[in-house]
Amino acid sequence: MLSVLRRIAQEIDLAGDLVSALNIVARCVREAMQVHLCRIYLVDPKQKQYVLMAFDNNELLPVPSQSLALDDGLLGLVSQRVAPVAHLNLTGDTADEKLAFLGVPIVYHRQVLGVIAVEEANHRIFTEDEEAFLVTLAAQLAGTVVHAKDMGFVFKTAVKPVEETCLQGIPAVAGVAIGEAIVVYPPADLDAVPDRQITAIAEELKRFDDALNLAREDIIQLQQRVEPILPREEQVLFSAYLQVLNSPELKTDIYNEIHDGQWAEGALRNVIKKHMLQFSMMEDHYLKERAEDILALGQRILVHLQERTAQPLQYPAKTILVGEKLTAADLADVPEGLLCGVVSYSGSGNSHVAILARALNIPTIMSAAGLAVTALEGKSVVLDGYHGCLYIDPSPKLLQNYKRWVKEEEELDRELQKLCELPTITSDGKEVQLLLNAGLARDVALSLNTATAGIGLFRTEMSFMNKPKFPTETEQRELYRKLLQAFAPRPVVMRTLDIGGDKPLPYLPIQEDNPFLGWRGIRFTLDHPDIFLMQLRALLSASENLSNLKIMFPMVTSVEEVDEALQLLDRAYQDVTQQGFKIAMPKIGVMLEVPAAIFQMEALAKRVDFFSVGSNDLTQYILAVDRNNARVCGRFDILHPAILRTLQYAVEKAHACHKPISLCGEIASDAVAAVLLLGLGFDQLSMNAGILLRIKWIIRTIPYNRAKELVARVLVLNSASLIRVEVEKLLDEVGLGALIRAGK
Ligand code: PEP
Ligand code: MG
Repeated sequence: MLSVLRRIAQEIDLAGDLVSALNIVARCVREAMQVHLCRIYLVDPKQKQYVLMAFDNNELLPVPSQSLALDDGLLGLVSQRVAPVAHLNLTGDTADEKLAFLGVPIVYHRQVLGVIAVEEANHRIFTEDEEAFLVTLAAQLAGTVVHAKDMGFVFKTAVKPVEETCLQGIPAVAGVAIGEAIVVYPPADLDAVPDRQITAIAEELKRFDDALNLAREDIIQLQQRVEPILPREEQVLFSAYLQVLNSPELKTDIYNEIHDGQWAEGALRNVIKKHMLQFSMMEDHYLKERAEDILALGQRILVHLQERTAQPLQYPAKTILVGEKLTAADLADVPEGLLCGVVSYSGSGNSHVAILARALNIPTIMSAAGLAVTALEGKSVVLDGYHGCLYIDPSPKLLQNYKRWVKEEEELDRELQKLCELPTITSDGKEVQLLLNAGLARDVALSLNTATAGIGLFRTEMSFMNKPKFPTETEQRELYRKLLQAFAPRPVVMRTLDIGGDKPLPYLPIQEDNPFLGWRGIRFTLDHPDIFLMQLRALLSASENLSNLKIMFPMVTSVEEVDEALQLLDRAYQDVTQQGFKIAMPKIGVMLEVPAAIFQMEALAKRVDFFSVGSNDLTQYILAVDRNNARVCGRFDILHPAILRTLQYAVEKAHACHKPISLCGEIASDAVAAVLLLGLGFDQLSMNAGILLRIKWIIRTIPYNRAKELVARVLVLNSASLIRVEVEKLLDEVGLGALIRAGK
């Protein structure tokens, strides 16, 4: 069965669309299980019915058009039980009336997307193995169905007019943006090539010919290079490659598509996919594997096509950046002042691209789904970062509403400017310092305008990530000194290099199965004292004649790690003082982001001066939920009772040890969580510049005692959603409702 499942999975991968994929599955199931009939139904949620999508029987009957109510008969039973249903009717007199049925649900995230049903007209008992086979297949198929829906698949039977085309995603950075979608494509990815109509056919044919010739030259050169070292049998591969590139059939197919008005990239994509499918359907194992070679050659031609078209992206004044997998570098590429929204088809609110967007105060949606990214190019869009919706070609009415909310938000921001110079203190006297998170020169510039108490987290790795190699000690010193000078005398907490996880260095790729449990933060720097010492020396020497530097270690798990780091810090201190720098030893802190560190706070407090909770990682490690995985992002709830109780423990422990404690994760920027952080008694909160005045508004509006009383009340609740309701109620009661929804 395993080989059958593998073959089906490959065929599904190569099927051009959902209906073809389902038909392939129906055929393969019928053949593998040797049943009379296999049907696949999908649930059409709009019409609330099952739609028959694929049908295969051994009599070659035409596919009947059929839709059934969701509670209809045996299918209804499968949905209702969300489990396989086997049924054997032996009561009929004729063979036709006797029916053996097995239906398994296609389930995704607890939702029934459809049913695979097999039937046998005669007496038959399906074995457990057969049931397990169908269950496995249904699980594989679920991903394909969801992907097709994400890419815009709609049921032909859908009749209700759609009022607004809307893409749904995870709300990652609150706010509203109205602008033009600019799509960023990964290079040489055939799947990411959009359809584009052209009229200059001759030019397009020439563009394709040139790219094909260049791809051919690449292969010839490669062939010549490997000739002396590669055995003769292996060299045949290059001749085979050249044969494909010289194949008149490939060229004619692509020419035909271009003549039909498709641009060269789109024509290449269609034809390569078609040829791959043909190869993959072959029984001969060797020929089957050639499908991968065809893909590789297609991508090689695409690289050359893109080299010729790769003009720098034109960013309009209100750019809403859209991409399958946006990176921090994509955001950094947009010239200053033009970026007003970000939509990524992958990742979650805790991915670093979302963190950067938050630092820049750009409304953002992550893991958007509903339409192929290619369909968004150049479209006018409205991005609602409060609800995670992206409206495409919005109606005038919707646009008008959102424009009003944007205006109201701007007014609110203007009003909040008045708070700039006022102290961050509650009406009953509790002071909570508000600091900033930063990592790029650009967000530092933003921060300077916002009368903040200083920088609570400077992510030094950012300046390592956008370079082609490790920055030199001098380069690092210059950057750190600029920052320390700009903020003096206000404190600047420099976090030492925190790479690994989802922050790889382009020049030092680390391959790990579980990067978030791997070589990250201080684990990496302690294993690389050369790199660590260089950074520590740069930090210390940058602080000459200034007294605002603080240093913080990330990802601490054990006391020994801190001891080792402090020894290296001492060594760096000796080095720089011997070089003649006049510096004082800065205050040192530890990040509390691994649960183990929380339970060693007493020992840590003897060694360091302050604590800072990294709630992004702490949440992921306490809840065992990957902060970047869109599948489980609904479970990454910062209001989970276990998180709140851990935070309460950490604050109490820090204060019992007479050490200040701050929080620098993303929850400090969340209005609902900030009320609880106030009530929990944090001394400092570190957040993004764009949100700071809103959090200040909370602190100046809600008395500390009221926040404490709320914390006591919600800490006994067992569900994050109940906790959220309670906090939102309070925000509304005190007139801060504008912080949790669009508009004023
Ligand atoms: C955190 O984990 O909360 C944190 C502030 O660090 P980072 O998001 O950079 O991992
Ligand atoms: Mg962290």
